[in-house]
Amino acid sequence: MPELPEVETVINILKPLIIGKTIDKIDIFYDRLIQSDYDTFTKKLIGRTFKSVDRYGKYIFLNLDENLTIITHLRMEGKFRFTSDTSPRIKATSLIFEFKDKTYLCFDDTRKFGLMYLTNTNEKFNVEMIKKLGVEANKVTESDKEKIFKKLNANKKIKELLLDQTIMCGIGNIYADEILYKSHINPFTKGKDLTTFDYENIVKFAKITLEDAIKAGGSTIHSFHPSEGVDGRFQVQLTCYGKEGEICPNCGTTFHKTFIGGRGTTYCPNCQVNPYLRKAIGITGPIGSGKSSVLSHLASLGYVTLNCDDIIHELYRMPIHKNKISKILHTDFDIDNQKKKQTAKLIMINDPLKKKAVENYIYPKLEEILVKHIEENEKVAIEVPLLFKAHFEYMFSKIFVIELSKEKQISNLKIRNDEIEKSLKLNNDYYYNKDNKFIINIKNKSTLEDLFNQIDSFLN
Ligand SMILES: [Zn+2]
Repeated sequence: MPELPEVETVINILKPLIIGKTIDKIDIFYDRLIQSDYDTFTKKLIGRTFKSVDRYGKYIFLNLDENLTIITHLRMEGKFRFTSDTSPRIKATSLIFEFKDKTYLCFDDTRKFGLMYLTNTNEKFNVEMIKKLGVEANKVTESDKEKIFKKLNANKKIKELLLDQTIMCGIGNIYADEILYKSHINPFTKGKDLTTFDYENIVKFAKITLEDAIKAGGSTIHSFHPSEGVDGRFQVQLTCYGKEGEICPNCGTTFHKTFIGGRGTTYCPNCQVNPYLRKAIGITGPIGSGKSSVLSHLASLGYVTLNCDDIIHELYRMPIHKNKISKILHTDFDIDNQKKKQTAKLIMINDPLKKKAVENYIYPKLEEILVKHIEENEKVAIEVPLLFKAHFEYMFSKIFVIELSKEKQISNLKIRNDEIEKSLKLNNDYYYNKDNKFIINIKNKSTLEDLFNQIDSFLN
């Protein structure tokens, strides 16, 4: 379905083609296209001349002399086609305006959802379908905001509210995803759970997104051939919509696709955190830091506990994943065979791209399992060594990062002196966003009891 910028492109293309043209004959092949009185439509328009074309939201106004306006909407597949071909009708054609100069404006619509409605020009904004529309999403002024914010403060998912044309009009499925991505808002969030800051961002990014798209549409007009049909579609630089499985340029997390109200919805789970999902406890830290001890402690406090290393090993053993990883690494991948495991490890160390490809394949599978457990259980604690690397921050209401001195790490791991340097590298392989307010740094410096006491004090 075309959105506001596409409709803007359509009217800019139509203007020079039809303004000044006088209707000589109307052929209608799909009666239900005409939603005002049929006979009036077919009689009153003969001999009338197109004077101007404008729009409100995604509705197009074809204005004629004698105070007449045809309101039209392209809906799913509708498009205008201008031609001088003497047999202009094609299979999808619903209507043809034949002009005095033997040119034709056809309305082609394979899905037949398009509409036309004849009214008086000075009455066009009072027709119910126009009257009920909210302010255009790219033209919201300061004084419109209060009314819009009030309507957004509803017990419905924000994605659905953005598609509701009575709140703001002109936003369709594509730009709704773009606006929410830019606003860092999860599409599942209820409108009423958002802040005024969020509402401000929605309005701001709606304007920017639509204006940018209108500009992009304007630049496509030069290469346009009216005989191909005007549906306004053009290539626009999208950052989120349709990017399922691709990497978020902002944070490196994989874009997810889901359905909201039957509409495909793409979002970044890390930049657009789902507030209902952010409830698990995450435990991370270098090797030998005491993560597993903390996990056992949380199990004793009634938490459902998961260990990501264990889950990944289970995934690696599944034939479907084993085969896929064998293909990525060009070797027979088998973690239960020491020699093959070592070979795979060496390949990944020597070829970072292959390592990345394995991670990009396996992390989403792991992610799916973790999300499912978090959704199904009230109290979940997860040991995630790769938490920051895999961008799983969005799942956790608390992330315990366990830190310890090199000396303690060495004693915990009971490492021999000659291996110390090698092992300490593990401690440095560790980067995370220090601004993440959900992170709690825990210093493991004396006993396990002291470690657990620290955890307990942050849990309460
Ligand atoms: Zn992101």
